[in-house]
Amino acid sequence: MAAKTGQQYIERVNQAKANVWIDGEKVKGNISEHPAFSGVMKSQAELYDMQHDPDKKEYMTYISPTTGDRVGTSFIQPKTNEDLQKRRKMMQEWAKYNGGMMGRSPDYINAGMMAYGSAAEMFGSQDPRFAENMRNYYEYCRENDLSLTHTLIQPQVNRGVSASQLSDPYIAARIKGQTDEGLVIKGARLLATQGGITDEIMVFPSTLLKQGEEENPYAYAFSIPNNTPGLKFICRESFDYGKSNWDHPLGSRFEEMDTIVVFDDVVVPWERVFAHGDVSVCNRAYNESNAVVHMTHQVISKNVAKTEFILGILQLMAETINIGQYQHIQEKISEVIIALETMKAFVTASEANAALDKWGIMTPEFAPLNVARNYFPKIYPRFTEIMQLMGASGLMAIPSEADFHSDIRPDLDKYLQSATGDAYNRVKLYRLAWDVCVSTFGSRQTLYERFFFGDPIRMASALYNGYDKQPYVDRVKEFLERSEQLAQTINTNFS
Ligand SMILES: Cc1cc2nc3c(=O)[nH]c(=O)nc-3n(C[C@H](O)[C@H](O)[C@H](O)COP(=O)(O)OP(=O)(O)OC[C@H]3O[C@@H](n4cnc5c(N)ncnc54)[C@H](O)[C@@H]3O)c2cc1C
Repeated sequence: MAAKTGQQYIERVNQAKANVWIDGEKVKGNISEHPAFSGVMKSQAELYDMQHDPDKKEYMTYISPTTGDRVGTSFIQPKTNEDLQKRRKMMQEWAKYNGGMMGRSPDYINAGMMAYGSAAEMFGSQDPRFAENMRNYYEYCRENDLSLTHTLIQPQVNRGVSASQLSDPYIAARIKGQTDEGLVIKGARLLATQGGITDEIMVFPSTLLKQGEEENPYAYAFSIPNNTPGLKFICRESFDYGKSNWDHPLGSRFEEMDTIVVFDDVVVPWERVFAHGDVSVCNRAYNESNAVVHMTHQVISKNVAKTEFILGILQLMAETINIGQYQHIQEKISEVIIALETMKAFVTASEANAALDKWGIMTPEFAPLNVARNYFPKIYPRFTEIMQLMGASGLMAIPSEADFHSDIRPDLDKYLQSATGDAYNRVKLYRLAWDVCVSTFGSRQTLYERFFFGDPIRMASALYNGYDKQPYVDRVKEFLERSEQLAQTINTNFS
């Protein structure tokens, strides 16, 4: 099968009937028709349909090296700079469509899967079968255009001790045993965004496990279908409140859902196991495969589109109520322009300095991307603050679509008109701004940007520890020595 259509995405997820729980009930029937998921699944289907748009097909897809079919570009193993740029173009096409509000459009995990597949050999250090499994699985994902959720984190119970030291060693999902069929996994992981509305789940190592026998049961990597027996997705409350696209322009379309994942003696078939009790490979996998680089390339490309969307909304708000002439408004919008150009420069620099890695994959330079993934979680909350500061009461003077179709319409038309247009269009815009910076959907977006890629504190430490600061230290030392020599010369001349 080649790159799939939206309809195929929906049918496949519906047929899987994964065990998804929301508001005390198991989802029955087609999940795509459930009010919590229908909006986002429709949006995701629209992304897949773009792969078949005759005007976009050339860059949204490429020719599979094994079947000759056209497959999704986010799976491409880039060998040249042009390949990298094609990946970015494809990823930004999706991100522009959703204003960057779908952090988990399938290209995010596909980028990681491409890197793991290319570095498959790394997984074979313990057992050559695992390398073979990874190679096969990457091809399987590519040829079937699989959509994946993923889960990396252990439950937030007691961060002062490791999972093996908790009162119950099966709180964090661990290997319980093994059978002829595969590994048996018991316990929980979080947080799987889009859990239950993808085909499969990728369960990869939690970041940096401690070395030691007791940690081995937590050191594993695998992928399984979402409907594997014993696998359960527990959803939070949905932030799609069933309103129209007009009322909740973002929440009604892009509410991706976050889920807790429970493994009740789930059997992972051997052919889907990539690591088994190997702390070393688990701790190395993300960096050594360069999955972190390719996933960051996707994230920052996506966040360029998100920043463009925010800038567009702010400028439209300024024009709508005619506040663009005030200097502090110009200064605030300039902050977003500076952020946008900075983010674009990070992506450009990473691509300009790309090089083939040891797996033969054209890999963007990590330093600019690493800085960008530390920068954006700080600047995105500021975007929403700016939107609130510019929107003021306009973010609350937002009657619903039903009000505009009622007897009070003349009042709305008169009192909510704008400097540039009618009340209907002004409120439509301000409802969008509200969904970015006030609504539950908007707050979740801010939390997402702060944390989804990891704890910002530890990401900053990783940047600090991984950055080569020595040349600059040496230069300062050399400078200080130079000053010393100069002082000695002066002293000698005057003595
Ligand atoms: C909206 C959203 C969607 C997400 N989607 C996914 C997903 O799809 N898949 C997935 O795997 N994960 C996902 N995550 C999880 C994300 O990876 C984590 O939130 C992130 O790694 C931080 O881990 P944590 O939430 O367990 O926070 P914790 O590690 O529990 O941290 C809580 C607080 O304690 C501090 N802290 C804890 N331990 C330390 C330490 N050792 N050193 C310094 N400070 C410490 C942190 O700085 C932070 O302030 C998502 C998160 C969010 C918010």
